[in-house]
Amino acid sequence: MSHSFSNSDLEAFLDEALPTERMAAIEDALRNDGELQKRITAVNGRRDAGVHSLGEIWRRHRLSCPSREQIGSYLLGVLSDGEIDYIKFHIESIGCRYCAASITDLKAHQSAPETEVTHRRQKYFQSSVGHLRKK
Ligand SMILES: [Zn+2]
Repeated sequence: MSHSFSNSDLEAFLDEALPTERMAAIEDALRNDGELQKRITAVNGRRDAGVHSLGEIWRRHRLSCPSREQIGSYLLGVLSDGEIDYIKFHIESIGCRYCAASITDLKAHQSAPETEVTHRRQKYFQSSVGHLRKK
């Protein structure tokens, strides 16, 4: 998948100098393609510091934040490798502060034993089913 974009495409992406469609295609590919994530990080690393940071561009678009559910699953270790790579890339390479904050927050909630959380969820589910049936 990553072969469909050249390094100059990635450069242009960082400069936001591509047609909208192409920008979107690269952003989309970046979500699922670990190789492409590494390449764009490398391309960005070779650029003059301070001109553009990858994180800056990323934040400007705000397209790529995983959902809170995804982050929760990431912390529980129940995501596929691709998704794990993406979230790591998003948080470690992009340095997304929003998601870093979500992780800190979710970690605090997830410190309860998992069985207890599941139990609580079941109870909630049962009571809402009961509630619906009464109607
Ligand atoms: Zn984020």
